[in-house]
Amino acid sequence: MSLHRKPIARGRGLDVIYASGDLTTAIPKYKIPRQEHSPRAAYALIHDELLLDGNSRQNLATFCTTWTEPEVQALMSECIDKNMCDKDEYPQTAEIESRCVHILADLWNSPDAANTIGCSTTGSSEAAMLGGLAAKWRWRAKRRAQGKPIDRPNLVCGPVQICWHKFGRYFDVEVREVPLSGDRLMMHPEQALAYCDENTIMVVPTLGLTMTCQYEPVDAIARALDELEQRTGLDIPLHIDAASGGFLAPFCQPDVVWDFRLPRVKSINTSGHKFGLAPLGVGWVVWRDHADLPEELIFRVNYLGGDMPTFALNFSRPAGQIVCQYYNFLRLGFEGYRKIQDACYRTAQHLGAEIGKMGPFRIIHDGNGGLPAVCWTFREKQQHNFSLYDLSDRLRARGWQVPAYSLPPKREDLVVQRVLVRHGVSRDLADILIDDIHRSLALLEKHPVAHPLTENEAGGYKHN
Ligand SMILES: *Cc1c(COP(=O)(O)O)cnc(C)c1O
Repeated sequence: MSLHRKPIARGRGLDVIYASGDLTTAIPKYKIPRQEHSPRAAYALIHDELLLDGNSRQNLATFCTTWTEPEVQALMSECIDKNMCDKDEYPQTAEIESRCVHILADLWNSPDAANTIGCSTTGSSEAAMLGGLAAKWRWRAKRRAQGKPIDRPNLVCGPVQICWHKFGRYFDVEVREVPLSGDRLMMHPEQALAYCDENTIMVVPTLGLTMTCQYEPVDAIARALDELEQRTGLDIPLHIDAASGGFLAPFCQPDVVWDFRLPRVKSINTSGHKFGLAPLGVGWVVWRDHADLPEELIFRVNYLGGDMPTFALNFSRPAGQIVCQYYNFLRLGFEGYRKIQDACYRTAQHLGAEIGKMGPFRIIHDGNGGLPAVCWTFREKQQHNFSLYDLSDRLRARGWQVPAYSLPPKREDLVVQRVLVRHGVSRDLADILIDDIHRSLALLEKHPVAHPLTENEAGGYKHN
C-alpha cells in the first residue's frame, strides 16, 4: 500500500507538530517514558519549556557570556565529540589549550611565559581548587622539611566568591575571611597581615570582587607581605582570584599591578566564560613557574595511549569552550578585547552616573576602575517605603535581572544592588533599563509597599 493511503503513517509524517499525538498527550516528567517520541516532538517540547527560563541577555546578575558570534556556535558544534582529557586522540585540541595558557601567562606578565605551566578547567571554581591545592602541597612540603606540624592550614582573603569556602571545606583548609567594617568593603593590607601566621598557605586577593565589583589592592598586599617576610621570615605566597579582572585589567588598566610582575604572585585563576568571552564551561589557572606546581599533584595515565599528565578534578570534559577561547584570542587580538571591554566600561559609567542622579541611591562602585559594573545602596538616613528587593522584583516584570543582596560579615546590614555590563549589554539597552528603573521607582513611590520584601522572601541570589 502506498504511503498516502495509510492513515496512521500519513498522520505521523504530516501532522502539524502541536496537533500530533506526541504533543497532545501528557508526557511523564519524572519517569522515563515507555515509548520513543519523534525527534521533532521531543525537541519542540524541550525548546518550549526553556522559554520559561529568563532571557539571558537581560540577566544583569551574571558575569558569564551571553552573546557569541555565529562562528563560536559553529566551532562548538564541530567540537561536540572532542574530549579534553584525551590529549592523544585530540593532539591539536591539546596544543590549542597549551597556546591559550601561554597567551594568558604573557598577558599576565609572566617573566618567562614560555616555561610557565597551567591548564584549562571548567571555570574559576575548579581553577581555584587547583591553585589552592598546589599552595597547600607547597606549604606542607616546607613545613615537613622544618619538622613542623601540618594539621592546621589556613588561607586569608577578603569577601570571596563561594568557591573559596568550598575549597576550604572540601580540602580542609581554614578560610580566614577578613570581616568588612564600615565603608571598608574589601581586604586591606593591614587586616590581611593580622590574620596571617605560620599556617597560612596563601593570601587570596580578588581582582573584581563579586559583591561590590571593586579590585582589592593586590600590590599593597604584596608589599605588606614583603615587609612581613623581612620582619619575621614568614614567606606567604599570593594566589590571585582574577575570575573577571584577569581578562579586563591587561586590556583596560595596564597600570594596575596585580599579576606576575609581583614576584609573590605564584598562581592566578580566571574564568574564560566571563570577560574571556568564551562560551560557558572554561576557566584557567596558571602558575608562575613549573616549581610552583608540585609534581605529586600531577597524574600520568597511559591507557588512552601515550603518557598524559593530568592535573584536574575532572577527567572527561568538553573541548569546544577551549577551542572557542582560542578563536576569541585570534579573532579579537589585543585591540579587539580592549574595544569590547572599553565599551562595557563606558556603558557601566553611564549607568552609574544616571543611577547616581536618581535620588534615593548612594553609589558604591560607579564603573571606574574595578569591573564594568555598578553597585549601589540606599542613601543613609532616608526612609523608603520599599526595599531594594522590591525594586529588583519590579524590574523582573520587564525581564531584567538586577539582583539585590546583603554583604558578608560584618556588614550583613548593608543591602546593595548590582548591574554587570557584559559584551552585548549595549548603551541602548542600558538606556532602556534606566527608563525602567525610573518607572519602577515612580510606581513604588506612588504605591507604597506595606511590607517590603526581605532577602529570604526575594528568594536569595547566587553569585555567579
Ligand atoms: C565567578 C567567580 C568565581 C567562580 O567562577 P566560575 O567560573 O563561575 O566557577 C570565583 N571567583 C570570582 C571572583 C568570581 O567572580
